[in-house]
Amino acid sequence: MKKWWSIILVSMFLMSLVACSEDDATNEEDKTELQEETEENEEEPNEDEVEDNIDSIIKDESEIAEDAKITALVNKKYGLSEDYIPEDLVTVDVPTVLENPEVKQLREEAAKALKEMFTEAEKSDLYLHARSGYRSYDTQVELFNNYAAEHGKEEANRYSAKPGHSEHQTGLVMDVTSESVNLELEEAFGETEEGIWLKEHAHEFGFIIRYPQGKEEITGYIYEPWHIRYLGVEVATAVYDSGLTYEEYLYEEGLIHEVNSEQE
Ligand SMILES: [Zn+2]
Repeated sequence: MKKWWSIILVSMFLMSLVACSEDDATNEEDKTELQEETEENEEEPNEDEVEDNIDSIIKDESEIAEDAKITALVNKKYGLSEDYIPEDLVTVDVPTVLENPEVKQLREEAAKALKEMFTEAEKSDLYLHARSGYRSYDTQVELFNNYAAEHGKEEANRYSAKPGHSEHQTGLVMDVTSESVNLELEEAFGETEEGIWLKEHAHEFGFIIRYPQGKEEITGYIYEPWHIRYLGVEVATAVYDSGLTYEEYLYEEGLIHEVNSEQE
């Protein structure tokens, strides 16, 4: 009788072992999946981690709200002070198109980056030209009024900015062109070798294509493949990698609460 009990007990024990090992097998699989995920993460961060990285670059709203900040947001909703003139404007040391000395200027950091970028492009036999950089508040007044007189205020607003709302006033923007579009600012520039190179490499030097195709609703501007905005390499690269406009990027970070830049 005792023997039977032992057999029953032993077989129960064995059955429980089988059950356990089944559990273990499932856990083992989970573990392997987890390990694989972790390994993948090390090579290529998943979206959550990219967002974490983005979060750590621009820390608070002052970085987009102050005129002189490299990451200042300027669009139809967010403007600069009327009297804001960057303190560190220098004349760019690259081929330029226009005679007006004002627009040949950029803030020092951006001018240096622009030169480095043009030099790098030349290594691929691509020759970029700087057309329009810094623009003062007063110049913008003149420009906008001229456009408005010619095309009407609403139409002018699609490709020109109201005074105080032009990114060019930051001294961090350059309109770039090439001989393949006769040194003009045309949408076709985006399809030229120079335009394609710019789109793919600008972020490496701290610039972004500020008004991408199909984003007029968000940026408030038609596609401008020539208009590049300096943000510094870190932020420009994060924006480039995100595939977003600067407005969308800041929205994702929780620094602006509405993605659309149109004035209310
Ligand atoms: Zn521009």
